[in-house]
Amino acid sequence: MTVKLIENWFSERYSDNLQLSFRVMDQLLSVKTDYQRIDVFETYDFGKLLAIDGTVQLTEKDEFVYHEMITMVPYYLASRKPRSALVIGGGDGGTAGQLLKIGIQDIVNVEIDTQVVEVSKKYFPNLYRSLTDSMVKLLIEDGVKYIQKTDRKFDLVIIDSTDPVGPAEGLFMKDFYAAIKRVLTDNGIVVTQSGSPFYQPKALQMAFSGMKEVFPFVSTYTAFIPTYPSGFWSFTMASAYETKGRLEEISTGKYFNADILRGAFKLPEFVRELIR
Ligand code: SAM
Repeated sequence: MTVKLIENWFSERYSDNLQLSFRVMDQLLSVKTDYQRIDVFETYDFGKLLAIDGTVQLTEKDEFVYHEMITMVPYYLASRKPRSALVIGGGDGGTAGQLLKIGIQDIVNVEIDTQVVEVSKKYFPNLYRSLTDSMVKLLIEDGVKYIQKTDRKFDLVIIDSTDPVGPAEGLFMKDFYAAIKRVLTDNGIVVTQSGSPFYQPKALQMAFSGMKEVFPFVSTYTAFIPTYPSGFWSFTMASAYETKGRLEEISTGKYFNADILRGAFKLPEFVRELIR
């Protein structure tokens, strides 16, 4: 008699009728925190995978796309080289790590859930490491509250959040963007991840329209991230001035280069329609 092995799969549900499934070797962790459920899987094709409330946050294999695109695009579009950055969310350390890589030496990272940081320390040490760097100040706090009370200013504000439900809901609101405007320098740019235009059009619309009420210049750009819903992901950025960029300074990443920077702002018609 043969023994039938039961295969393990982690599935992120996009709707009642659709899901993306990863065959996994093992579930390394499942924990419910004060804010959310965190799972870590060892997958066959994407290395370790971090999920929050059942949605993929990052995988070892494709995290570079998200982390380069949320940092390098605003960095090279700023009129002067940014020297300081505030990261809201990003408790895995991937965004802070990419900011260090491009030369920012003054980073404040505000993450609401200490357990995300602990999980990253244990399962994603290469990303977590940045949070122990002397140039990174890690605060465990709600980003909305931090913005309201800080008297600091930053050249870049990067909202590296979960989707606009639960603790991250306030990070997609007009009032939050207005508060961010107060902490930006004259050179400042704010960027947020704004979801999958195809499966989460509301996230993009909330981010875009919220920023548009506060900033004169708002634009959306996209990137190919295989493990996020539809693989087609958006980011939305805003500033008080028209960004022309310092294209002559560009150094490439693994995804990012000068052509990507130019092309990322070219939007399909259905995306333009969403933010019209
Ligand atoms: N790359 C990811 C994505 O788009 O799927 C985001 C990764 S990062 C893990 C998102 C982080 O935002 C989570 O660790 C979550 O705890 C944090 N977060 C959510 N709401 C927050 C808030 N109000 N203040 C600070 N951090 C928050």
